[in-house]
Formats: sequence, C-alpha cells, structure tokens
Amino acid sequence: MKKVIKFLREEIDEDTYIPSSYFGIKKTDYQENKKADINSEFLHSVSDLVDSNFNSDMSSDLNDKETKLAKLREEVLNCRKCELGYSRIKAVFGVGNPNAKVMFVGEGPGWEEDHRGEPFVGKAGQLLDKILASINLDRTKVYIANVVKCHPMINPQTPDARGNDRPPTAKEISACRFYLEEQIRIIKPLCIVTLGNTATKFILNSDDGVSKLRGKIYEIGKSFFFDFDIKVIPTYHPAALLRNPSLKKETWQDMKMLRDFLKDK
Ligand code: SF4
Repeated sequence: MKKVIKFLREEIDEDTYIPSSYFGIKKTDYQENKKADINSEFLHSVSDLVDSNFNSDMSSDLNDKETKLAKLREEVLNCRKCELGYSRIKAVFGVGNPNAKVMFVGEGPGWEEDHRGEPFVGKAGQLLDKILASINLDRTKVYIANVVKCHPMINPQTPDARGNDRPPTAKEISACRFYLEEQIRIIKPLCIVTLGNTATKFILNSDDGVSKLRGKIYEIGKSFFFDFDIKVIPTYHPAALLRNPSLKKETWQDMKMLRDFLKDK
C-alpha cells in the first residue's frame, strides 16, 4: 500500500487524496444489530464474547498502530529525501498515544528538538504542555507531530548555532508530507489541532494564515487522501504566544472549542 501511495504521490498532483486501508470493528456495530429475542443466558455469553473480541480488537489495533508507526519512524530516521536530511542532527518523528483522538501538528523541529529528537521540547513545548493541561490533556493522551521532520535552518553549515531556525520551504514540505499523512492514516484522530501558519495552511490546503482561519472547526471529509472524517481546529503556535502573549486569549478560546468537541468522545 505504501509503495502504491508513494508511486501515486510522485505521479499525481500533490494535493490529491489517497485512502487508507485501515478499518476497525466497533462494539456499537454489534450492539445495534443484536437480536432482541435471544434468551438472557445466550445474550450473556455472547456479550462476554463480544467484550473479549472487542478488547482483543482494541489491543491488536493498538499493536498494529504501534508497529506501523515504528516502521515509519525507521524510514524517517534514515530519510534523505530533501536537503534537511543532510543538516539535521536528529530527525524528529513524533510522540504520543497511537490511539489519540486528537493530534497536534506543528511546523518543524527547532534547535532543541533537533538535539533531542523529540517534538516540542523547548520553551514552546513547555507552553504546549500547559495548554494541554488547561483542558485536562497531556502527552499520554494526544499525538504530537510536525509537518516536516528535520530542522529547517537558515545556515545549514552551523547546526549547533541558536537562532538558526526558518520555516520549511514548499519543496521541503512536499518531500516530507507523506510521513505526516501516513501518521494521520495510522492514528486516525477525530481532530487535528494545527499550530501556526505552516501546519494550518498545509492541513487545510489554504493560502490564508492561522489568524484568519482560527476560531472555527473545519472538516476534512472522506477523500482520496483519508477514508475517514477529521475535524480541524487551527490555533496559534506556542512560539507565537511566547513572542506575543496577547494571543493567549484567542488560543484559550480555541482550546475550549477542542475541549467541548472531545466531550463524550
Ligand atoms: S525533512 Fe522529511 S523529507 Fe526531508 S529529509 Fe527529513 S524526513 Fe526526509
């Protein structure tokens, strides 16, 4: 499947959409279809069976996702599809819960992330942790990734220099997009929170920036790219909040929207 997607990605317009082959079995499907006239003993035994099947489906589903993510991570760690792969110190794949209902997507690794191989571990990452905590989330409940997996630098000759960050180019995003798309296909989140301009423009395929698009929930419907619906909540990147604390109020409004969306999910 991955080879086919890679082939299609090279052959067709980069904005077209490719479906995932992932489907899960839901307990509710069974419950809706079960017959009302079966006796209680049979019902009880079937219910136990369904519960055990459901639990084993859930755990094999988790194992399956972990295996797929681990394989993809290996690819990223060895990737040299764009020039960022030659200047990075560490590729930054992503972290979190493979069964997360919500994914947070940022732009790309900075100095701190490049040195530690984890996303959002500098000051902006600490602020992201506080933002998550404000709506009762943490890194064990969500998945965090970036649009590009390697550190875009102003001067690639000085990877150890501070203040050497820049946004990824369209070419770099295009080279790297398969990895984020595949992460989304594996995790199947209900919602993606895009952090900042780069992630918002990429996920919503829009020329407008986050300040224009935030404040609403968008929907990426089933398409050639994803075979499931995903809601998208754009908000500011934590690094922008560090530079301009007045943006915190709007970010809090966006997080309340996320909290309300996740209620009962
Ligand atoms: S940024 Fe993405 S495409 Fe470029 S080398 Fe790193 S992993 Fe590969």
